[in-house]
Amino acid sequence: MKNLQLVFATGNAGKLREAREILAPAGIEVISPYDLGLTKEQVDIEETGKSFAENAVLKAENIWKLTGEACFADDSGLVVDALGGAPGIYSARYASLDGFGEDHNFASNIDKLLHNLGNNTDRRARFVCSVALILSSAGGIKQFDGTCEGRIAMERAGCGGFGYDPVFIPDAYPDRTLAEVDEDAKNAISHRGNALRKMLEALNSL
Ligand code: IMP
Repeated sequence: MKNLQLVFATGNAGKLREAREILAPAGIEVISPYDLGLTKEQVDIEETGKSFAENAVLKAENIWKLTGEACFADDSGLVVDALGGAPGIYSARYASLDGFGEDHNFASNIDKLLHNLGNNTDRRARFVCSVALILSSAGGIKQFDGTCEGRIAMERAGCGGFGYDPVFIPDAYPDRTLAEVDEDAKNAISHRGNALRKMLEALNSL
């Protein structure tokens, strides 16, 4: 698949950077909804779905309705076993759910996560990503999922990536957090990388 342009239905700069790195080598140009003049209010819709997959569809449909351009969305988050799957689909707003911190604030979200886990020795967790792709009204919505297994560190380390990366130790690099691996290495093992590579396979078979 060469010379395809896709709008990525996100206002998250970290997600956008990673998607570009993963998709550009395959000839796919990823543009932001802001490049098309959309506003933050138009892009950041309420995520009312009950799963990552439902929220990804809501976000992709929103951009499709506003622009009519081929687009995809990613809904993703961190699932921690000892917390019954939290923060899950509420990963972006985890701290603000009960007034622990501000909405969409990565630092407060990590503070709350480490606080809630305390010294619990069960630190198994995974990142999950669901991607929804809309190429045309006739083509419907295609969905792709990816995960990245790991565990939650006792404290932050590293300054790369975004979100919960400073406290997520991937199984593939058991001696460091995702914020301590370079972006290519993260993309090669990440939930987003795994889901977007499945999307690429589907695009290549069209
Ligand atoms: P949403 O998909 O916009 O609802 O937000 C996903 C949230 O999950 C982000 O705000 C991050 O807190 C977290 N998240 C998703 N992917 C990653 C990642 O690759 N690294 C770290 N945190 C992530």
